[in-house]
Amino acid sequence: MTHAVNPPAANFLRTIIENDLREGRYADKRWAGKPGPAAIQNQGHADSAAIRTRFPPEPNGYLHIGHAKSIYLNFGLAREFNGACHLRFDDTNPEREEAEYVDSIADTVRWLGFDWRWNDETNCYFASDYFDYLYEFAEALVRSGNAYVDEQSVEQMRSTRGTLTEKGTDSPWRDRPAEESLRLLREMRDGRHPDGSMALRARIDMGSPNINMRDPVLYRIRHVAHHRTGTKWPIYPMYAWAHPVEDALEGITHSVCTLEFEDQRPFYDWILNTLADLGQLRRPLPRQHEFARLNLSYVVTSKRKLLQLVRDGHVSGWDDPRMPTLVGLRRRGYTPSSIRLFCERLGVSKSDSRIDYSLLEQALRDDLDPVAERRVAVLDPIKLVLVNYPESGSERCQAPCNPHDLTQGSREFPLTRELWIERDDFRATPPKKYFRLYPGNTVRLKYGYIVRCTGFDQDANGAATTVYAEYLPDTKSGTQGANAAPVKVRGAITWISTTQATAAEIRLYDRLFTDPHPDSGRKNFLDALNPDSFKTVRGWIEPGTDARPGTRVQFERLGYFIADEADSSEQAPVFNRTVTLRDSWN
Ligand code: ATP
Ligand code: MG
Repeated sequence: MTHAVNPPAANFLRTIIENDLREGRYADKRWAGKPGPAAIQNQGHADSAAIRTRFPPEPNGYLHIGHAKSIYLNFGLAREFNGACHLRFDDTNPEREEAEYVDSIADTVRWLGFDWRWNDETNCYFASDYFDYLYEFAEALVRSGNAYVDEQSVEQMRSTRGTLTEKGTDSPWRDRPAEESLRLLREMRDGRHPDGSMALRARIDMGSPNINMRDPVLYRIRHVAHHRTGTKWPIYPMYAWAHPVEDALEGITHSVCTLEFEDQRPFYDWILNTLADLGQLRRPLPRQHEFARLNLSYVVTSKRKLLQLVRDGHVSGWDDPRMPTLVGLRRRGYTPSSIRLFCERLGVSKSDSRIDYSLLEQALRDDLDPVAERRVAVLDPIKLVLVNYPESGSERCQAPCNPHDLTQGSREFPLTRELWIERDDFRATPPKKYFRLYPGNTVRLKYGYIVRCTGFDQDANGAATTVYAEYLPDTKSGTQGANAAPVKVRGAITWISTTQATAAEIRLYDRLFTDPHPDSGRKNFLDALNPDSFKTVRGWIEPGTDARPGTRVQFERLGYFIADEADSSEQAPVFNRTVTLRDSWN
C-alpha cells in the first residue's frame, strides 16, 4: 500500500519523550562518563543529558535509506530534547562483521549532519567491549536461579519450544543446581565444549504465551574469531540478550527500534529488571519503543540483496548512483538536508506502509530549487544555424543564476551564428500542441532572440541533421523589443554556442527496478531490474560551469545534476543526473 506523508506532527516518540520528561522518569539518572554497570554509574553525577538514544548498526554492510530514518529519529530526537545519541556498533555476532564497514558507517552518519560527540563525551561504542560485563551478568543470573545451562541439542530445544498455540516443555536440565550450571558456564567460557553441545538459557516460563519468554538462549558456543576480540571468547551472546544490556550500560533512556522487536519487549524488560534487582544495573532503566520501518517503492534494502547486486555486477559498487545505500544516494547527488527533509515528512508511525519513491525525489527538488545555480546543457545535440547572423559575430546573453533568488547574481554566455539545441526541440512535422521549432514556427532562444525556422537538412533516412532559422534582431531578452516582440511565441528552448560550449560526459540514471515491489511475495528481485537504468551521453554544457567534484547544478529544463565525486574534473566534466525536474513515472 502506498501512503501519503504523515503530517510532521505525527511523531508519537516526541509525545512519549515529552511525557517522560514532564513526569521526571529519568530525573534520578546518573552518568559516570562511560558505560558501565550499577557499581560504576552509582559513582557518576546526575546525567546532564536529558535523554540518551542510540543508533546501533551491525557493521555488516553499508547504510541504506532505511537506516537514515533510524538515524534521523535517534540523533534528531536527542538534539531536539538536549540529549545525547550514541553511535554503537552492534558487533556481537562474530561471523558477519567486517571492520571495513565501521568507517563507512561513521562517515555516513556524519555526512547526514549528525554527531555522536556530546559536550566532552565521545559516545562511539562497540558492543563487543561489553563482553566482560555480559559474562559477569550471566553468572549473576545463574547464581540467582534465573539461568541454566541446557545440554539439549539445538534441534531438541527447537522441538520443545512449542508453537503459537501450544506451550513449550521444560528441559530436563532446567532444575539442575545453580553450582552445576555455573561450573558448566565457566567451562563453556574456557572453550572446553564443542559448538552446539550446550547453551545458557534464561529461566523464565516455558508456558508463556509469548514464545520469546520460553527460556530464550543467552549464550551459545561458537569457536570462531571476532574482528575485535580475536579468539578470547568461544561463547557469544544472543542479540536479544545483549541488546538490553548494551542499552542499560550506556544509560540509554529511549531505545527506539523497528516493529519486529515488539514481541521481544517483555524479554527486554525481564532482563533489565532482573539484573537491576540483582544490583547489577542501576535504575532508571531504558525502555524500548517500536516504530514502523521505512519501506520504499522501487527499492530493495535487504543487505543480502544489496550485496548480491554488487557481487554479481548489476551495479558498479556500493556507491553506484542507483543504489539505495547512502553512499550511493550521495554520489547520485542527494543532499544530506534533502534526506533529513524526507525523513521529517515521513513522520513516525506504528503501522507498516510502503512509501512512494517520488517522495524522496520531491524532497530533493524542494531542497535544491531555492539554492541550486542554473546552467544550460544540451544532451542530445543538433546544430541550429542562424542564417542572418554574421559569420564571426558573437554577443553576450545574460541569465539569472537562480530565477527565484536574484541575489545569487547572474551569468553570461555567448550567442553565435551556430548553436547546439536539443534534437527533441525540432520536428520536421510537429505533433499537436508542439510549440517548439518546426518549419515556419517561431520560438524564443531562452535569454536570446526570437527565431523563425526556415528549413533543415536531412540524411538518407530522413532524420534532420541541421536546422536553419533567422533571428528577429529587435527581440533580445532583457531589451525593450523583447516585450514588444512583433510575433507571439509559445515556446522557449535552450541552446549553447557551438564554438564556445564545454564538452561533458553526462550519466543518466533512472530507477534500478521497474517493479514498485521488486522483492515482494515469491518474486525474484533480479527479474525486475530496469534495463534502462543507466545511460551515458556526450553533451555540451554552458561554458564556465563549475565541474569540480561534488558541485550541484540545475541544467535548465533537464533536472538536477552533480559533478561526479570520483570522475569529474574541470578539464573533463562528468555529471550525474540526480533527478529530473518533474516526476516522469506517473
Ligand atoms: P540486517 O538485519 O540485514 O542486519 P538491519 O536492518 O537489522 O539489517 P542494522 O545494521 O542492524 O540493520 O540496523 C541498524 C538500525 O537501523 C536498527 O536499529 C534498525 O532497526 C534500523 N533500521 C534498519 N533498517 C531500517 C528501515 N528500513 N527503516 C527504519 N529503520 C531501520
Ligand atoms: Mg540487525
